[in-house]
Amino acid sequence: MPIVLEGQPALVTGANSGIGRAVALALGRAGADVVVNYVSDPEAAEAVAAEIRGFGRRAIALRADVSDEQEVETMFAEAIKVFGTLHVVVCNAGLQRDAPFHQMTLDQWHTVIGVNLTGQFLCARSAVREFVRRGVDEKVSTAASKIIHMSSVHEMIPWAGHANYAASKGGVEMLMKSLAQEVAPLRIRVNAIAPGAIRTPINTAAWQTPDAYADLMKLVPYKRIGEPADIGQAAVWLASDASDYVTGISLFVDGGMTLFPGFASGG
Ligand code: NAD
Repeated sequence: MPIVLEGQPALVTGANSGIGRAVALALGRAGADVVVNYVSDPEAAEAVAAEIRGFGRRAIALRADVSDEQEVETMFAEAIKVFGTLHVVVCNAGLQRDAPFHQMTLDQWHTVIGVNLTGQFLCARSAVREFVRRGVDEKVSTAASKIIHMSSVHEMIPWAGHANYAASKGGVEMLMKSLAQEVAPLRIRVNAIAPGAIRTPINTAAWQTPDAYADLMKLVPYKRIGEPADIGQAAVWLASDASDYVTGISLFVDGGMTLFPGFASGG
């Protein structure tokens, strides 16, 4: 992995598991010091931080519930105190509370919107405040800073039984694009990654048994499940100056899931 993020401290939310963990590790390998955010399981967060320190980078684990305004602000203040500033913020934390629509409780709705959408708003807002304060530092990057939102193929694919989740990711897409438009003149780049099916704890039921895996592959033209490291690589590219002219996009990393695979043999 080329060392393209040296001198660019990064913060990744929900970084003690799955995609967030892989993104934190990939940013660390690419030279960034990393804040590993978690809300539960501090041991897992500390293990990710220790692995990054093993690459010769600095890393700390910080607890904060991303849906809580005060906790997010305290986390950013602490991160900036320790690392001096932040150059890369990855709003990754997310969850599902699935239910048939007529049985979905308001609590299930609020929980998913609160973490997946409001959480991304709160973290992006704290990030922009710091990026505006500091401005461009040409020594480390041509851009003032980079925000990466973790969206999903469900920002565009409707998902029966998961209306709260799909609504949150549709919201993330327009949050990302509106923010990208607003802060581009400040040379803050804002993009999203829209993963397809990635092998993590959030979707164990979709890949754990051979039958479930075979069913899943009907939706994936590339005929393999995505691995968290696939998303880590994409995040390094979006965080680095290699993507300097890219802002306001959702980068689909999905093995072709959004290519309407049913039309390969039908339609
Ligand atoms: P995961 O369950 O392994 O990780 C989610 C992380 O978010 C965990 O660390 C969890 O503790 C954390 N989290 C949950 N609520 C939080 C809160 N209130 N504050 C802080 N952290 C919180 O699942 P994952 O697959 O790694 O999911 C990461 C992101 O990727 C999510 O936004 C998810 O929607 C998105 N995504 C995943 C897939 C996939 O196939 N796995 C596909 C598309 C999008």
